[in-house]
Amino acid sequence: MSPDTGQLALRLAKQIEGSGPISVAEYMRASNGEYYGAGDPFGVEGDFITAPEISQMFGELIGMWLTDLYLRQNSPSNCHYVELGPGRGTLAADALRAMSKFEFAPAVHFVETSEALRAQQLQNVPLATFHERVETLPTDGPLLVVANEFFDALPIRQLILTHAGWRERVVVRDRGTKFAAMPGSYPMDGSVPAAFQNSPVGSIFESSPDAAAIMYELSNRIATQGGAILVIDYGYTQPGLGSTLQAVKAHDYADPFLDPGSCDLTAHVNFFELANLARMRNLVVAGPTTQGVFLSALGIGQRAHALAEASPDRREDIFTARDRLIKTGEMGTLFKVLAAHAPDWPAPEGFGGPLA
Ligand code: SAH
Repeated sequence: MSPDTGQLALRLAKQIEGSGPISVAEYMRASNGEYYGAGDPFGVEGDFITAPEISQMFGELIGMWLTDLYLRQNSPSNCHYVELGPGRGTLAADALRAMSKFEFAPAVHFVETSEALRAQQLQNVPLATFHERVETLPTDGPLLVVANEFFDALPIRQLILTHAGWRERVVVRDRGTKFAAMPGSYPMDGSVPAAFQNSPVGSIFESSPDAAAIMYELSNRIATQGGAILVIDYGYTQPGLGSTLQAVKAHDYADPFLDPGSCDLTAHVNFFELANLARMRNLVVAGPTTQGVFLSALGIGQRAHALAEASPDRREDIFTARDRLIKTGEMGTLFKVLAAHAPDWPAPEGFGGPLA
């Protein structure tokens, strides 16, 4: 039984007891709002490590990837570098430094809701302009959008198949806090694809309305303004069933109900849907491929050797970081990479190989 220690736990318990069950999405939104609002969860001392925090090579290669697109598009003016959920700002700082070597210095826009993380991002990227949401991004030039481990933090909706049909999966209070199918007879069958209608009772179907809305808006913008979007995250490339909701704390899995707001709630990203949304707005899609294939194609091997030659004392650390980023069993296969670009922009590098 969960002790429900924190303030948010008490507030949510009262809300559920007072006005009924809340959706999984609502629970995730409340928990992650508090979690990221509190500050910096990254690094060895924190709850999880992301790719840009493992090595500068990650952000540098993304900066080179963007520069390559920009140069092959004949250096359009008024380009905007846009990052969704930039964390500490490390990826952006590394990418912008790599871009500046080619005299490419786009305006910088961060879509970030956490005040505490905004402060930290400003230290790494002092010229950043902040946005609460993608709708306020500039409309006057191409958008080059990067989202690393962003979409997995957005709330997901879950539907569960009961003997009486599909129902919203909700959070209830019943001797503690737990998941249940929404009581009553509100049918949700219309929100589940035909292919999954006849699944075993207990099956769970996930969707992320927030992720879809953001991808749709950005695809629209890129279609009219030009540019590209690069999404890197853990996720799946074909639609499927099952709950992928996880709570992560101190580099380990946690109970999502133990102390909401104190752990990261994440869900696997549906790359199949993100790609379809981009196509619906007439973008050209590349991938998804794996992070290992993508970074290798961009030359992480050569970059690691160059860095090791310049700093022989760090040689082992550099090669260890490279391996963490690209090896199967580390981040190389679990993480997927998807790009989508305006139809009149060139096809991006990094997607030549088959999905490993
Ligand atoms: N991209 C970073 C951080 C990933 S963690 C890295 O790779 O290190 C998720 C990031 O998304 C955090 O910066 C968090 O504050 C932000 N975030 C979470 N939900 C958000 C939302 N709805 N809108 C904007 N930013 C959000």
